[in-house]
Amino acid sequence: MRTTIQLRDKQFEILLPQAVIEERIKELAQEISRDYAGTCPIFLAILNGSFLFAAELLKAIPIECEITFLRVASYQATESTGKVTEVLGLKEDITDREVIILEDIIDTGLTMAAIREQLLAQHPKSLAIASLFQKPEALQTPVVIEYLGFELENKFVLGYGLDYDGLGRNLSDLYILCE
Ligand code: 5GP
Repeated sequence: MRTTIQLRDKQFEILLPQAVIEERIKELAQEISRDYAGTCPIFLAILNGSFLFAAELLKAIPIECEITFLRVASYQATESTGKVTEVLGLKEDITDREVIILEDIIDTGLTMAAIREQLLAQHPKSLAIASLFQKPEALQTPVVIEYLGFELENKFVLGYGLDYDGLGRNLSDLYILCE
């Protein structure tokens, strides 16, 4: 196992090995399976970053469920409206469904707050958030995370689905930026 890596101009060191991440994902899968037994929840995995988390979690969930994958587009609409976050690719009808959003990491929380608001407008029966990582110190808006993998310090991380400038999503451990 390599403990430090170089990607483009930056050096990263290992923070969480794959075995530790996947053990925690299994615990989350058990909690979710217990809480949602008999309800056939639909998981909405936010691309690109959550693809490994979603795959590992779903393999460990034995109850009946569905999964679909969404993208989030973030752009500056006008000076006055500020940044707009739009959920793309949801074809399934989530009205009256038990919905669980799968996210890689919650940083400021602004993306998740916007996603939540747009999904709530479609009147799901319930809406929960499962995030593999969170940086509590970076939070700028309150976000309740029903299923959280790990709290991290407020530094840039990559690996296990998360990228640096497009690279590193394939790394099976989580790395943190070296100062
Ligand atoms: P937020 O709106 O919570 O600030 O940002 C959420 C998104 O920013 C995440 O889904 C992720 O794509 C990206 N992000 C936030 N922190 C990190 C990080 O430390 N590393 C990487 N690779 N992406 C991050």
